[in-house]
Amino acid sequence: MDIKIADKCGLCYGVKRALQIARDTRKSHEGTVVTLGHLIHNPQVIADLEEQKVFSIESPGEGTASTVIIRSHGVSPDIYEKLRRRNIQIVDATCPIVKKIQQQVETLSAAGEEIIIVGDRTHPESEGLIGYSRGRGIIIENAEQAATLPLRKRRAVLAQSTQDLDCLRAVVSALLVRTEELQVFNTICESTQTRQKATCELAKEVDTLFIIGGKKSSNTNKLYNLSKKIQPNTYFIESADQITLEMLKNSRKIGLSGGASTPPEAIQEAAVRIQTCFAYQNHQEKNVQCQS
Ligand code: SF4
Repeated sequence: MDIKIADKCGLCYGVKRALQIARDTRKSHEGTVVTLGHLIHNPQVIADLEEQKVFSIESPGEGTASTVIIRSHGVSPDIYEKLRRRNIQIVDATCPIVKKIQQQVETLSAAGEEIIIVGDRTHPESEGLIGYSRGRGIIIENAEQAATLPLRKRRAVLAQSTQDLDCLRAVVSALLVRTEELQVFNTICESTQTRQKATCELAKEVDTLFIIGGKKSSNTNKLYNLSKKIQPNTYFIESADQITLEMLKNSRKIGLSGGASTPPEAIQEAAVRIQTCFAYQNHQEKNVQCQS
């Protein structure tokens, strides 16, 4: 049995940075410190933050926090405004790469462009980006939706940082026949692209592949969908205890990968669980041989 972890996987720069900012803010700030939404899609890390008295709220009007941390996905300008009106101190942990995309949307909006954002409609990053478009943006999730847009003289298209490249390509193709002058900005972050590539390569090599991460994590879902197309024996699990002997049946090479919010411990726990399952299976097989 061979376990291989994807060359690039797990926590990305933006999420690591946001976690560090949250821990530092707790140490340096008096009063109640909260994050606006969960900082990361991982229950253990959230529990650890809560132990350090960093809780989360769902909306800027909730609770009586004195400091609110904006997570790596970023938020729209009206959220900053709502927090300022409540005299809440803002600690901005928006990933610098997402900030750049927000600025790009702002610039395009100021130039009067119609902006197509290729992203998940309910993802916080896309919700934030649409706010910077000041009414000039549309979120498009796939090529089918893009194909329903009217003809235009000009348009600009960019993507949520965790979008997959094939989806962006397909939307751009659909837009090309509906737009005379189309500006394309590939704003998919490098970290997302290298993780997707590494997972696809691993999917070709192994008999079974586990994608570890929160079900709500957009980039982890994309890793799963990409891998499943290559390796049908791909499983999306949130934690190691979901791995069963049945999943490992007839597999000698097992691959592990995780999304941008999957901590290294979660991947290691999965590796240990697989080793334990194989050890148990070998023990059972030896018992059967001894008895026969
Ligand atoms: S996926 Fe990329 S853009 Fe998004 S938080 Fe991570 S590093 Fe930043």
